Amino acid sequence: MRRIRQVAVIGSGIMGGGIAALFAGAGVKTLLLDIVPPDLKDPEKDDPQARNRVVQSGLNAALSSKPPLFMSPRDADRIRIGNLEDDFQKLSECDWIIEVVVENLNVKRELFQRVEKVKRPDAIVSTNTSGIPLKAISEGLGPEFKTHFLGTHFFNPVRYMKLLEVIPGESTLPEILSFVADFGERILGKGIVWAKDTPNFVGNRIGVQGLLKAVNFMVEEGLQIHEVDALFGPALGRPKTALFRLCDLVGIDTLGHIAKNTYEMVQDDEDRESYVLPEFVQEMIRKKLFGNKTKAGFYKTEKTGDGKKIIKVLDPETFEYTEFDKPVFPCLAEAKKAGSLAEKMRAILFGEDAGARFAWRVIANGWIYAANRIPEIADTVVEIDNAMKWGFNFEMGPFEQWDAVGLKETVERMHREGFPVPEKIQKMIKRGVESFYRLVDGSLEYYDFSTESYHPVQVSPNIISLKNLKAAGNIVKRAPSATLVDLGDDVFCLEFHTKMNAINDEIIEMMHFGLDHVDQHGAGLVIGNQAGGTPGAFSAGADLFLMAQLAMQGRFAIIEEYVKKFQDVLQRTKYAPFPVVAAPFGLTLGGGCELCLSSDRIVAHADLYMGLVEIGVGLLPAGGGCLNLWRKLTAGIPESVTEVDLGRFFISAFTTIATAKVSTSAADARSIGFLGPADRIVFNKDYLIGEAKKEAAEMAFEGYAPPVKRPVKVMGMAGQGMANAELFNMAQGGFISEYDAFLAGHIARVISGGDVRDKSEVTDDVILALEREAFVKFWKERKTHARVEHMLKTGKPLRN
Ligand code: NAD
Repeated sequence: MRRIRQVAVIGSGIMGGGIAALFAGAGVKTLLLDIVPPDLKDPEKDDPQARNRVVQSGLNAALSSKPPLFMSPRDADRIRIGNLEDDFQKLSECDWIIEVVVENLNVKRELFQRVEKVKRPDAIVSTNTSGIPLKAISEGLGPEFKTHFLGTHFFNPVRYMKLLEVIPGESTLPEILSFVADFGERILGKGIVWAKDTPNFVGNRIGVQGLLKAVNFMVEEGLQIHEVDALFGPALGRPKTALFRLCDLVGIDTLGHIAKNTYEMVQDDEDRESYVLPEFVQEMIRKKLFGNKTKAGFYKTEKTGDGKKIIKVLDPETFEYTEFDKPVFPCLAEAKKAGSLAEKMRAILFGEDAGARFAWRVIANGWIYAANRIPEIADTVVEIDNAMKWGFNFEMGPFEQWDAVGLKETVERMHREGFPVPEKIQKMIKRGVESFYRLVDGSLEYYDFSTESYHPVQVSPNIISLKNLKAAGNIVKRAPSATLVDLGDDVFCLEFHTKMNAINDEIIEMMHFGLDHVDQHGAGLVIGNQAGGTPGAFSAGADLFLMAQLAMQGRFAIIEEYVKKFQDVLQRTKYAPFPVVAAPFGLTLGGGCELCLSSDRIVAHADLYMGLVEIGVGLLPAGGGCLNLWRKLTAGIPESVTEVDLGRFFISAFTTIATAKVSTSAADARSIGFLGPADRIVFNKDYLIGEAKKEAAEMAFEGYAPPVKRPVKVMGMAGQGMANAELFNMAQGGFISEYDAFLAGHIARVISGGDVRDKSEVTDDVILALEREAFVKFWKERKTHARVEHMLKTGKPLRN
């Protein structure tokens, strides 16, 4: 059995640092190497610290990166650093050696020749090159080396980009390829795309061509930079960075290199000319307008006299930066009204204004270009779609878009307008096939050009798709806000699907329904969903809008009733006679976090932003959040330890809630205490529901016994005293506002179990009643209203 006990990462730059952080986070011992600084003089030449200066600064940069590349700074304990002279022999201890040095063929080649001499014969060696052909890199290396050599192309930033392109070398053993793909998916949580050893592989080949083509068309059609960005952002299912903001981010010099190199390498590409940069972009490179790194590119941020930031856009004629208004295209207004992405895309692509015509030209060209790249760069439409979703954050890949907009109708239009429709597409239509994908009994199939038939999309058995299960009819009950889905093996999943998965009345009702249903017909319940987006939202909390309205009307009794209803369903969840497993990911805030705290077990995605953030809107967790965080933090204290100092636990629970602490990862959530020792962290988001299901089934199989309702030990007034002293200092020092101190004081009272003596025991109901009382009291405060209103308007907390 192959094991990765230790990995070596050579090169500690942007990508090397990120890859080392990823492996270390996944629990793998990592050796990070880089060059000895070339300019060392005596006596530094013999100073080990000076010799490791490059790698040390690479590691430091990864540790201080924002957003963080490390899931937890403690993961760095698994990383040893060294240099390519003194520590090279250590590579013989490694099971996998990943090369991530500068993009230079000679440097890479020389390095691999040295690696060949020290590596274990069975060790895997891979390169992270983004453009140099593997064939060129491995030229002259021995046959045995080549059987273990391949490309593993991670994307930047490594922690956050899901795509991992796996590129087989000339003679890589199949078992090495499948091992790396499985490891990448299961342990590192990546989405695997099988690429071929062709220029820029899959994602960058399609992505860069699309980008450069759009720039060329923009010049031809006389559109402006900010107009193009308005079209090519979320309205077409792409990130807000759209086209030109993305270029500024990547660097226009880098883009220039890629364009030039690709142009040289793709001699037979029918659209090779798209890699020629328009004259104005070449002039930008000459003028060093590289984007963010030179603080001026297609856009430039300037400060006005009163310190306000304004973003200006480049005028390609004069190279001046000018202010701009939001572009007005009728097609964009139509798209805004549309519900689904398919409808939005249709509104834009079938519009009649100049923006619509431009968007159609770019998108249609992109679809055709992608179709022509099969089988050159990849064998299936699936690989290309996944590469664009996981590497460029597109909501849909090109073929999924084409299906969504309508294959037959758009091909007819392409014919009418003289687009060069690829032969394979024409043949497909002639055979009466009108989509690249279809669902058959809940399984997704794709159309394969080579066999001219549909084949199942291969997914790991660990992946459960709620969408596909629902399409196959595995629905117990569906409501507009939530659905109960049958996952099989007597486990059911309660899926939310409101905006940001905010919790409303209907969800509470559906939770009761789900609990009833599993009680009668099932073994376990999973609470989870597969909301898209990065990082996506398991649930952003309770629906504030509704409560704000009730508070404005002074209907406080109804607010209390509503909170009680939420508490009741969560208490029912906690004490249900079967296991309930929550599967959070991304934003898991307020009520979403409380839901997790009241479940028996949490199976969380590694990227978890979990927090009880209610104080930000002038409230406190009142769905049992105060109670259950306290319970969770103190749960590990053995009964035999009677003389325990609860103060430490109290301060931890108090600061977590009073400072609205949000975890930066699941590992961080564990260190805060939201996740306990039995809760699990899963690296691959697609595995989450499947893993949660397994967990629920296993807990049921092992004879699950629900928790017994026992009182909990609290600190009472002693805890409040501690908190108040702390709050007094913080308010005096100006760290918190007076209102924060008021709110936090009440929060301390709730967590402490009320005005009782230290180490008293109180029931759940006592703390729940305190939560409700404080919650209603806060809603009567003017400053809470101001906070809520600000949050609803801006999405940001107000500290008044
Ligand atoms: P970088 O410039 O941040 O880091 C390069 C590293 O190589 C540095 O740590 C440097 O010290 C080291 N190095 C320099 N000269 C060397 C030599 N002679 N021998 C050994 N090491 C040397 O670059 P990066 O962005 O991390 O890129 C590294 C690799 O990853 C490249 O092949 C690049 O094409 C690829 N890549 C980059 C990105 C990206 O977005 N930056 C994405 C995917 C792949």
